[in-house]
Amino acid sequence: AGAAKKKPPNDSPCAVVPDGLERTANVGILGGGQLGRMLAIAAAPMGVRLRALDPNPVAPASVAAVATEGSFQSREDVLAFASDCDVVTVEIEHIDVAALEELEAMGVDVQPTSRTLAIIQDKFRQKEHFAAAGVPLGEFRSIADDAELAAAADAFGFPLMIKSRRMAYDGKGNAVAKTAADVADAVAKLGGFDAGLYVERWVPFRRELAVMVIRSKTGEVKAYPVTETEHVNNICDITRTPAAVDFKTAEAAIAAATNAVASLEGAGVFGVELFHLADGRILLNEVAPRPHNSGHYTIEATACCQYQNHVRAILGWPLGDTSLRVGGAVMKNILGEGDGDEARSISHWSPYDRMHALMGAALATDGANVHWYEKPDAKPGRKMGHLTVTAAHVVEAEAKLDKIVAVAGGDAD
Ligand code: ATP
Ligand code: MG
Ligand code: MG
Repeated sequence: AGAAKKKPPNDSPCAVVPDGLERTANVGILGGGQLGRMLAIAAAPMGVRLRALDPNPVAPASVAAVATEGSFQSREDVLAFASDCDVVTVEIEHIDVAALEELEAMGVDVQPTSRTLAIIQDKFRQKEHFAAAGVPLGEFRSIADDAELAAAADAFGFPLMIKSRRMAYDGKGNAVAKTAADVADAVAKLGGFDAGLYVERWVPFRRELAVMVIRSKTGEVKAYPVTETEHVNNICDITRTPAAVDFKTAEAAIAAATNAVASLEGAGVFGVELFHLADGRILLNEVAPRPHNSGHYTIEATACCQYQNHVRAILGWPLGDTSLRVGGAVMKNILGEGDGDEARSISHWSPYDRMHALMGAALATDGANVHWYEKPDAKPGRKMGHLTVTAAHVVEAEAKLDKIVAVAGGDAD
């Protein structure tokens, strides 16, 4: 501790590029879920072996990463895990930022940086940051009590989107008040004002788009093609790539995403979620400082996937080709299903025989690829795996996916 990390000597037998880390560098990931798994799998062909910190010793990433048991939310565990890493990265943004600051003070390279994670993990602060950076956003406002919420509702109207500032994912921190009568329930669902809430004006988007932007420690930046995301109950159900938008819209989406990422420091993939409005405008929804669900398609559909490029980026290596090498790709998340009405209304597969029927139908389809995360148990809405179908055109890929879903018994709805 205390000593700055040494740069790799150029004559090291494991040096790959003059200013980058060695192939044998000690690379740590905080979190061992499916994104960590896909990072570790993508690192393997380059001879790079990652280490993953996760409470579960057989977490999804453990298939290809060296697993360390511990919590990425515990300061002690993070410090013990990462203090001898050459570079530390994350597969989830809900990390103890103070622990990352301590690591940085010790000379450990954290990518993206603790400052970037601190901005992003508080969604209200994130919105303020992007507003200040001039990235187009919908209207938002902090709310501390009933009076401020009532004033925001007067200004924004209904439906009103109320969000938790922290620990949000898969819509778990979101509640929609359709009318003034729903407001109290929505606030209660999110844990009350003390939990830290803010509101957004409802965005009547025509479609949602996402762009993965990758930046290497060298400063090199690339963007992936624009993908269209379709959410069911706040959880991504399907992505279609390339998005069915005209060239100008695609350019505007990539420009907005690239500008948003340019305002943040650090290396790696950034998943940028956007709204495309009927009048043509592109508004930022949020940014994830890591590989993103809506970029799964890059594994089969692009020359160098977001996961391999993330590893290259944090090692300070040249970035790979982000362009499409197929006509189109459709990705579908496989979600766990529980019992109860709420669970039944989610578009998903269950129980396991249903998920396995889906795998079977995909395996029998040319162009379809199965990704199963090996999570210890299924829960309603939990991401258990995904399918990606590629074809000469995205419409053909979606037709194949529809057939797979039909053969497996249809959507759960
Ligand atoms: P993620 O799993 O992507 O991190 P999250 O829990 O952070 O999701 P958001 O991205 O804030 O949630 O919202 C989830 C979805 O809810 C969005 O993809 C969009 O479909 C919808 N949504 C969010 N904000 C708004 C808004 N202001 N107006 C209309 N719809 C919205
Ligand atoms: Mg989010
Ligand atoms: Mg989101």
